[in-house]
Amino acid sequence: MLQRRTSLRAIAKRKSKLDFLQLDNVQVVYNGIILVLRGVTLNVPRGKIVTLLGANGAGKTTTLKAISNLLAAERGNVIAGSIHFDGRRIDSLNPEALVRSGLIQVMEGRRCFPHLTIEENLLTGAHTRSASHAELRDSIDKVFHYFPRLKVKRRLSAGYASGGEQQMCAIGRALMSNPRIVLLDEPSMGLAPQIVQEIFAIVRGLNNREGVSFLIAEQNATLALDCADFGYILENGRVVLDGTAEMLKGSSDVKEFYLGISSGERRNFADLIKNHRKRQPFLSVMD
Ligand code: ATP
Repeated sequence: MLQRRTSLRAIAKRKSKLDFLQLDNVQVVYNGIILVLRGVTLNVPRGKIVTLLGANGAGKTTTLKAISNLLAAERGNVIAGSIHFDGRRIDSLNPEALVRSGLIQVMEGRRCFPHLTIEENLLTGAHTRSASHAELRDSIDKVFHYFPRLKVKRRLSAGYASGGEQQMCAIGRALMSNPRIVLLDEPSMGLAPQIVQEIFAIVRGLNNREGVSFLIAEQNATLALDCADFGYILENGRVVLDGTAEMLKGSSDVKEFYLGISSGERRNFADLIKNHRKRQPFLSVMD
């Protein structure tokens, strides 16, 4: 009996990990007609880093925007499927309510307010909180702890900051909302490799020490798989492969199509889709 209770508790614990962010068969259309996501199912376990990989136009940004409910501005709609965050269905929550619940997106292309200083940009990230002056100070100090470059440049107008500093500022601003999960859209875009390494190391630190989960959409598979625990590969609005980062790094398909390491005769990506293995849920890889 005791053993049975223990195993039920273990299952419940595992389930709550799996349930942190969950997309089930999500379909998205733009302009009421262009079907872009064709049934995406994915899962971010609590406290983990998951990367969403795929070429240009695969549907990575659309997936993140579907989660943060930012599709309406693009005339996009979730037409089927469901999205749950921490056990609660969130498809109909507005972006501000999502931020209050602990889920925030850092959009592709940084998007800092160019006329505000770095520090003022960070403060705008706390607008959904009713925090005291001292709490805001603590939050800013925490951001400066993780991003020392931002502390040095805190009085600089964000428009004059480098691309890397703007990306750090955008992530720092998201952290000011006290998120439990951050959706990062192409953090490496247009940045020098050394800066990208620095940013991914900080993401890992935030995950390890603050317990923040991340879903990172990336084209740079090598970097993303080095940082992440799990990965999904999206192609034409469908997940074609998923698994632990180690497993994906070792997969010959991923090596060939995403890491640029060819095993000989070059194949068409359609072969990968045709032959893709039966998808393994994370339950098995986490056991
Ligand atoms: P990238 O790395 O280039 O951003 P992605 O994997 O993030 O690619 P999405 O931006 O999600 O891909 O785009 C997926 C598909 O949806 C593409 O074919 C794109 O042209 C189309 N798309 C994106 N936004 C819109 C829109 N507002 N209206 C119509 N089609 C769109």
